[in-house]
Amino acid sequence: MLFLPEDVFDLCLDRAKKLMGSEIYNSWLSTASFRSFNNGVFTIGLDSEIRANFVTHNYKVKLEELLREVSGDTDVSVIFTHVPETLSVGRMNNSSRHELFSNFLKPGYVFDRFIQGPNNRLAFATAQSVAYEMGQSSTNPLFIYGGVGLGKTHLVQAVANHIKTNHPDKTFCYISSEEFLTMFLRAMIPNKNNFMALESFKDRFRNSHYLIMDDVQFLSNKETTQDLFFHLFNDLYLRGRQIIVTSDRPPHELEPLAERLISRFQSGMVVDIKPPVLETRLAILNQKLRDENIVLDKDIIFYLAETVKSNVRQLEGAVNLIAANIRIQNIDLTLENVRSITTEYLGASSRRLNPASITSSVAEFFSVNPNTLKGKQRKREILVPRQISMYLMRDLTNLSLEEIGSFFGRDHSTVLNAIKRINSMMADDTFFKRKIIDLRESLLV
Ligand code: ADP
Ligand code: MG
Repeated sequence: MLFLPEDVFDLCLDRAKKLMGSEIYNSWLSTASFRSFNNGVFTIGLDSEIRANFVTHNYKVKLEELLREVSGDTDVSVIFTHVPETLSVGRMNNSSRHELFSNFLKPGYVFDRFIQGPNNRLAFATAQSVAYEMGQSSTNPLFIYGGVGLGKTHLVQAVANHIKTNHPDKTFCYISSEEFLTMFLRAMIPNKNNFMALESFKDRFRNSHYLIMDDVQFLSNKETTQDLFFHLFNDLYLRGRQIIVTSDRPPHELEPLAERLISRFQSGMVVDIKPPVLETRLAILNQKLRDENIVLDKDIIFYLAETVKSNVRQLEGAVNLIAANIRIQNIDLTLENVRSITTEYLGASSRRLNPASITSSVAEFFSVNPNTLKGKQRKREILVPRQISMYLMRDLTNLSLEEIGSFFGRDHSTVLNAIKRINSMMADDTFFKRKIIDLRESLLV
């Protein structure tokens, strides 16, 4: 995701408001406005000297913590100053900004930590060559596809992390198509702070040397957004900028994505990632065990690599569970223990934690018919359990907002709203919160 400093600050204010409660927030921070960002320092204006001093003494540390969290950058700080109202400036008057935050880039997603095998070797080599030299016509655009949990995000973030570390003069934009949609929709809403929001949204992309779009399959069915993406894509492409796209399926299966986008994708390099073979799974397991500081017998490691094979995320999940067991019990695990932990883990993820089973558990809990949760009724007795189901799916499965939405015949923004709603209801009502916690536990046992 790409964030401008003012986006980072806005998100940080949102979180501060939740933490402080709106009363305190309104007294001190409601007039805070972004002024500038230079060399890691945010300058924030407040409407009086007293406020600026008070906020500096009482909230600076917390706000810096939040800024670090949101920006993913450990080196940021903040200064509060008094800015008279008459001096307030428009926020969008500076179009040539290059500080693009890369929240959601995981520092561990680097090439060195990506285990190669016959299943992913070509994808790895191509991603690396693109990171070293952008815009070569044979590898532009680069299209990487493969099933869930096979390392697509890791690989394309490795490109971004490489650029971040080695080419600070180059800007990149890493964004998932879901976030692209969200930002696009936000930019379409005019308000006094973001007149020309759509233009500035486009500018952010036009300025990137690398555009990395993760999970492009979710642009299907979204014509206006596809249109915009196509134009941004062409504009960058014609100027020799590198484009990297991932998807869960090959370009020709992306219908109903616009034909012209599909043929653009096909015009560059298309590579796939397949599930890892046993040897690769062993190597990935060993790396993960080293990370977690866990020593397991060879036969246990072998057992895991043979049993957990559908994807790498699942393999990591199994190790996390084993690590947790070792920490709790403080003993070495036997093959028998690991076998039962793994069987339960695999069973739970396939048996219980899928959209249908979550929905029916929620329906049972609220004594409603599970089919009505997938229907259109907006009565509160139906709406709330439906929203809870969405919330729990997002929490307990790897499904994206889009995938959850499609289960209910709705779009990703409905799911996002449901999650927000449940979060705020839980914050307001401890009884309700207890109910959700119980439900969640009942799904996990
Ligand atoms: P995808 O985007 O394809 O769904 P991810 O990139 O999110 O998959 O990968 C899931 C997890 O598995 C991540 O934690 C990632 O680091 C790990 N992973 C996947 N493939 C490899 C690999 N070849 N070597 C090391 N870790 C991997
Ligand atoms: Mg991914």
